[in-house]
Amino acid sequence: MARSESSFDDHLPRRTRLERILERDGARCVWCGREVGTGLVAATTEHVVPRIKGGPSWIENEVAACRRCNGQRGHRTPADWITECEGLGWEPDVATIVAALERLEAAVERRGGQRRSRPYVASQLRRLRKRPTWRPG
Ligand SMILES: [Zn+2]
Repeated sequence: MARSESSFDDHLPRRTRLERILERDGARCVWCGREVGTGLVAATTEHVVPRIKGGPSWIENEVAACRRCNGQRGHRTPADWITECEGLGWEPDVATIVAALERLEAAVERRGGQRRSRPYVASQLRRLRKRPTWRPG
């Protein structure tokens, strides 16, 4: 793979990557909104586009989630899982998910490759931007 400005981030230890994600997005689970990483609830690294769907292990594709939500989501798409979270009475952070998808789209554009993730990202952005509750940050 070609070197790029972000390739350094990809090789940071997991703990450091997670700290950067928490700084970038805030110390909350993107799905249920619980505070993570600072108190009782551990933070885990969640891939917005699952690896099995071609999502890269790049910091652009990673957000923080609690272990419960990370495990329960499985391989559902962000848009499907957001709808389920809302059905459970949670308040998923749609703006952070949209920002992650936009960041990933730009990173793929810049770095190339990741062919499988492209239509997935595009269709998720279309669905999430159509949501009545969506407000651009
Ligand atoms: Zn959660």
